[in-house]
Amino acid sequence: MTHILINFAGDVHLAQAVKCYLSSHLVFSDIFMIEPEEDEISISLEKNYERNGNRLVKEILRNYLDSNNLTGYQITELENILTVGIPKDIGEISTLLMCEICGWRMTTEEELLVHRRTHWI
Ligand SMILES: [Zn+2]
Repeated sequence: MTHILINFAGDVHLAQAVKCYLSSHLVFSDIFMIEPEEDEISISLEKNYERNGNRLVKEILRNYLDSNNLTGYQITELENILTVGIPKDIGEISTLLMCEICGWRMTTEEELLVHRRTHWI
């Protein structure tokens, strides 16, 4: 039996929705959420579908994403792990700083330092 992991990069809601969606496909014999993060699903494929397992799962995932207008999401494959997520713009990450307490984003180090102080009052 083939096992495939699908990781949703922290997106717990999407992981839940996809788990339900996959459950309606009879090609999978076992589907469960990986605790405690709950952003990863483990699926087992019925013997008849093992050979093209990854491709089949990717097709079903792509169908789900497209039919829900989640077109910004990409599916990447590394051996038996599929990752579903929105590719981040590297330039965007380096120019935006994020407050680790509330998630607020700022463009300069100075702004971040000033902002952080508001949490200590
Ligand atoms: Zn903050």
